Amino acid sequence: MQDSKASPHDSGDIPSEEIRKNASLITGIFTEYLDNIENYPVLPKLNRGDLKAALAEHPPEEGEPLADILKDFEKLILPAATHWNHPNFHGLFATSGSAVGAIADFLSSMLDMKGMLWRTAPASVELEELTLDWLSELLGLEERFKGLIYDTASISTMHALAAARERLGFGIRQSGMAGRSGLPLLRTYASDQVHSSIDKSCITLGLGLDSLKKIPSDEKFVMRADLLNQAIEEDLRSGIQPMAVVATIGTTSTTSVDPVNDIAQICERHKLWLHVDAAYAGPAAMLEEKRHFFSGWERADSIVVNPHKWLMTPFDLSVLYLRRIEALSQAFSLVPEYLKTPDMPQTANPMDYGIQLGRRFRSLKLWFVMRYFGKKGLVSRLRRHCRLAEYFAEEIAKEGDFELMAPVNFALVVFRAKSKDVVNPDEFNLRLLEEINSSGEAFISHTVLGGKVALRLSVGSLHTRKEHIDKIIRVIKDKTGQMLKAT
Ligand code: PLP
Repeated sequence: MQDSKASPHDSGDIPSEEIRKNASLITGIFTEYLDNIENYPVLPKLNRGDLKAALAEHPPEEGEPLADILKDFEKLILPAATHWNHPNFHGLFATSGSAVGAIADFLSSMLDMKGMLWRTAPASVELEELTLDWLSELLGLEERFKGLIYDTASISTMHALAAARERLGFGIRQSGMAGRSGLPLLRTYASDQVHSSIDKSCITLGLGLDSLKKIPSDEKFVMRADLLNQAIEEDLRSGIQPMAVVATIGTTSTTSVDPVNDIAQICERHKLWLHVDAAYAGPAAMLEEKRHFFSGWERADSIVVNPHKWLMTPFDLSVLYLRRIEALSQAFSLVPEYLKTPDMPQTANPMDYGIQLGRRFRSLKLWFVMRYFGKKGLVSRLRRHCRLAEYFAEEIAKEGDFELMAPVNFALVVFRAKSKDVVNPDEFNLRLLEEINSSGEAFISHTVLGGKVALRLSVGSLHTRKEHIDKIIRVIKDKTGQMLKAT
């Protein structure tokens, strides 16, 4: 049936002619934004609800021209964004997302492949295998580690712990956990500095928050391996089943590094799954001078590294490496009739390794990033971030009014104002944080260490140079000075 009167806009997708007409508007938005990102306040100056109030309340009855939508993107959406690529975005873990990765993401959306099977997405399946082999080579991981791409570290870790749970041999995949007698509490151990995604994995997997034992860390926020060993032995005596240990290389609050070799030895002795959370710091394994932090990670059963945090790859892309990738398929492989292909069961497919069926073509952006920057380019950018963080730490520590709260292992500095004129340092530092962030000039975040409020400055944007670090030092000093004067 042909509808001769229907325009492409009525019946199909946007006509190529309209795309071509708007090409310079699209690339203009992209390049102007990145070239002038410094002109935006890092955190947008708006209140909750402002954006929604400025947008149409109901969907349009008739389709609208692309040019109009793009104009609204520039006028309304951009000013409501938090600018993660801004050179003075120093909160949480700063992102290193690149334009070249964004271009690849756009092409990946163009293809819109759902990578559950080799047949549905051969390019995605094969490029994922290749890029993860490239990445493990760059990270100096042994060849036996095979990787998979998920969206986030939270999901990567959840899959690793699901594989650990299945390896115990209780047949949980088949019989579940509820209503079973004779199933002991299945224990996961991690330091008291561990990321909350581990707690969430315990919730999701039905293990329960009570199953997660937080092992105290020392004065450098590093897990006490002796206390880990003690906790495992106590559990064994009381009938609890140890399941897995999560060691972190680069904790969220301070980037401290757990003693992976000592922990691996304990895991090997008790046959426990060792998961290494290197979500943030993982890419630094490429740097010779940081290599010592990674000693022992090759003894892990699984390792998570997030290129979307610190490897120039736009969100989202998290990599889970496994020493025995079959452990994952044993937990998750399940092939409904309509997904059977003639090459099964000889060929494993991405859907065998997790809860998702369809998967985005994420490896494309990692491949673009690794090709565009090359090993040298990646290494020099990571090194620059570390040097800038060290520079900030040196400069801020020179000031009598500030103290460093943790060693600077990678590109994060944890510090706080401590002037003798400050009566309540916790309250003062929280106020200082708000003063800095509401200025729009920079964004930093905070944590609590040993009961004390501390400020975190992370360097990770590709746009950050020394002048931006000088700027944040100036902002911090000025705000502190003003606040002290007012007390
Ligand atoms: N692990 C660590 C050490 C982190 O710092 C973070 C986030 O900052 C995560 C895991 C969770 O990462 P994602 O947002 O990819 O789930």
